[in-house]
Amino acid sequence: MGLFDKFDGLKAARRDLETLGIDPFGVEIERILSPTEGVIHGRRTILAGTNNYLGLTFHPETLAAARRALDAEGTGTTGSRMANGSYSAHRRLEEELAAFYGARDAIVFSTGYLANLGMLAGLTGPGDVVLLDADSHASIYDGCRLSGAEIIRFRHNDAADLAKRMRRLGARAADALIVIEGIYSMLGDRAPVKEIVAVKREYGGYLLVDEAHSLGVLGDRGRGLVEEQGVLADADFIVGTFSKSLGGTGGFCVSNLPALQLVRYSSRPYIFTASPSPTTIASTRQALAILATGRDLRARLRENYLRLHSGLSALGYRLGAPASPVVAVVLGERLQALRFWNGLLRRGVYVNVMLPPATPNGVSLIRCSLSAAHSAAQIDAVCAAFADLRGTVEAGAPERVTET
Ligand code: PMP
Repeated sequence: MGLFDKFDGLKAARRDLETLGIDPFGVEIERILSPTEGVIHGRRTILAGTNNYLGLTFHPETLAAARRALDAEGTGTTGSRMANGSYSAHRRLEEELAAFYGARDAIVFSTGYLANLGMLAGLTGPGDVVLLDADSHASIYDGCRLSGAEIIRFRHNDAADLAKRMRRLGARAADALIVIEGIYSMLGDRAPVKEIVAVKREYGGYLLVDEAHSLGVLGDRGRGLVEEQGVLADADFIVGTFSKSLGGTGGFCVSNLPALQLVRYSSRPYIFTASPSPTTIASTRQALAILATGRDLRARLRENYLRLHSGLSALGYRLGAPASPVVAVVLGERLQALRFWNGLLRRGVYVNVMLPPATPNGVSLIRCSLSAAHSAAQIDAVCAAFADLRGTVEAGAPERVTET
């Protein structure tokens, strides 16, 4: 097999999309107008697929903090913290994250993807066991691969299946790492974290919770599903990202376990990549302060996602999960989902289309993510676009797909 033969499948899939005149994976947002609006194909468009949960990307205080850091420290750190040294702000952010969770320490990584890669590969290796939810994010799977640990998948959100697998491990369960997410990114469903904690209490092991989609969203202070469910102290490691509710790029892990500090020295995704830029760190520190006290933002976000969830339910759409900031409409078939996505875009609504094999159970999804910054009128406009397209789903009738 030639080097490029493996691309044949991708080439064919791209050709199909070109024939349809649909390019969901190459969307160019020509102008960003606000956290919730942009210009796409020359049209003013509601952005409802950005994960900008608290709408902080244009907050005056985060902008001002980033500008100050830019002037004082420049555009980039130009190297990794291990080789080039940490800027003071990197350490301050780690202290602030640890304080936010009441944890002993924190490590900042350059992205959320690298946080999972860095924690899994830094913490586990050949001979260790990682039990992960089957619907885990790609970064969790990739981290396991990099670590070389034994991987055991348990059925999505099924604590009984996890318990069965822990039981089979016998004495090894005591040192196994269980990995779950707070809110799952595709369908917006939540982990049964209390039940999973009960399994951990029975069999031992350690629990890592990726709160990428629940940080800032759930819990009185925004500390995610573990705070909302009262099991913060049972999570041995909490991973999160700056790229959603905090409106930046980067990732972190907090823990009470002293071993976290040693992960810095064992984690290739921490050691061998450049540290986050001064502007990123500064805006994130400011955003974290806003998030921690942002009950009003969480309340507005909740109002918004309830409005969209009930609006789409009333239209008869099949939704992936009870209401959360991720509202996923389940469509059976790939082509239908692509056409539907394009229909929304032509009506000035940008969302995400998710296709197998990236989706659970081979479904195709139209995935919306809501923001505290959306107005009720914008959500009603999103619902109106879905209402307009309702017939195309029921009848499976082809939506005209070429751009007007
Ligand atoms: N974990 C989960 C559950 C995610 O959904 C994502 C990104 N969508 C990541 C980690 C990676 O985060 P980032 O995009 O900040 O690298």
